[in-house]
Amino acid sequence: MKDVMYSSTRGADLKVKASEAILRGLAPDGGLFVPDHIPHLDRELQEIAGMNYQQTAYEVMKLLLTDYTEDELKYCISHAYDDKFDTEEIAPMTQADGAYYLELYHGRTIAFKDMALSILPYLMTTAAKKNHAKNEIVILTATSGDTGKAALAGFADVPGTKIIVFYPKHGVSPIQEKQMVTQKGDNTCVVGIEGNFDDAQTGVKKLFTDGKLAGEMDQAGFQFSSANSINIGRLVPQIVYYVYAYTRLLGEGRIADGDAINVVVPTGNFGNILAAYYAKNMGLPIHKLICASNSNRVLYDFFKTGAYDRNREFMLTSSPSMDILISSNLERLIYHIAGDNAQKDADYMKKLSAEGRYEISDEMRKQLSDFYGNFASEEETAAAIRSLYQSTGYVIDTHTAVAASVYQKYKKDTDDNTVTVIASTASPFKFTRAVMNAIGHADEAADDFALADQLAQMAGLTVPDAVQSIRSAEIRHKTVCDKSEMEHAVKNFLGM
Ligand SMILES: *Cc1c(COP(=O)(O)O)cnc(C)c1O
Repeated sequence: MKDVMYSSTRGADLKVKASEAILRGLAPDGGLFVPDHIPHLDRELQEIAGMNYQQTAYEVMKLLLTDYTEDELKYCISHAYDDKFDTEEIAPMTQADGAYYLELYHGRTIAFKDMALSILPYLMTTAAKKNHAKNEIVILTATSGDTGKAALAGFADVPGTKIIVFYPKHGVSPIQEKQMVTQKGDNTCVVGIEGNFDDAQTGVKKLFTDGKLAGEMDQAGFQFSSANSINIGRLVPQIVYYVYAYTRLLGEGRIADGDAINVVVPTGNFGNILAAYYAKNMGLPIHKLICASNSNRVLYDFFKTGAYDRNREFMLTSSPSMDILISSNLERLIYHIAGDNAQKDADYMKKLSAEGRYEISDEMRKQLSDFYGNFASEEETAAAIRSLYQSTGYVIDTHTAVAASVYQKYKKDTDDNTVTVIASTASPFKFTRAVMNAIGHADEAADDFALADQLAQMAGLTVPDAVQSIRSAEIRHKTVCDKSEMEHAVKNFLGM
């Protein structure tokens, strides 16, 4: 089997193995690591249908992380997908109102980021060993709310690593913030910034590509890596659950072998849906990749017009993990549809950074026919939660509701009745106020924890441990800084 090598979306010079791409996070030229070819699944889907999540994970990940040995991968997988998840299925599916909700929120921090961030620390420390890294790894992370906590939970007290998380001080839900600022572990640091997620992400990318800072870090015995979905080590584990969802449907006789399914993905940074695109390119029968945006509908406009334009007002919505105007992982798709052309991609990204806008060629647009994009307004998002609850009793969170609403629009637009999987990306308990508001039961005076109790009672569920355990936890992280002071905050934490 040919090794999969990784190069930057912005330059073809550097080619590295998977473990080195994971260790580095971002290519030195600011581009993202991409595989030089996308390998095909080498087992029959029927065969995978008989496997559990961990076995499925191995079958997918071995194809893309080719320099990890079988023992190394199996070690990482078995330590990641264990009883940290509250169900043995790891990613169960619930059928409701004609769609299958793939619940990706049964991990430690009750959002889908756990699916990849439970395994990334193992992949990373294994990579450090394999590559004889001499420095301590400093995970630098920008978060729109969910990545931060999932990365903190994954890396807390992992020897040889430190983790610094930047989040928009006024752009996350109260439960998201409380989850992060109560994080334990001496190697963890959480900083709120006066700015939005794009500011945090741009600031982090700048620190990554700052040659002078890299030198100073090396002197002090540190090197950066990333836990954001710009790290290929985040994307590869996310391919797994699409294969798992398909093969569950197959195993249960809900589809026949070879039948295509649709997937609907509530999208922010374009990582989750890109994983579905890779799954399709690995031979998983997916018909449409349905990209669901909230009111920050920059991706909807892109699919409609071929122009990516971030020059618009940034909206704070009830689905904060999708409040993003610069979808980092779209860069990987652009690179692929340009024919794996780094020069073209670099030109577009230069335009994006200088003018906030670029427009792809007609030829490239033709290759987007597998995608369907749409968006849901705040009212439509709330209506999706309410109507699903009223008709079935099933409660979804605001992000998943964006997807549910867009799926209804898709069906209306196309009359396509293909079996459809909706990526359910967070537990409703993470966004209790918005969810209770949508259902019509929000009590103004109650705090988010009291609302969680009410939601549990109404829906006949128990409040997840992830929420219970932070109710009265000590606040350990209080730093707030301006978006221009991020480098200072990093140096301060590292004692540089
Ligand atoms: C991160 C996140 C998203 C967006 O995923 P991307 O990979 O950034 O597109 C959607 N929903 C929830 C709950 C999230 O945490």
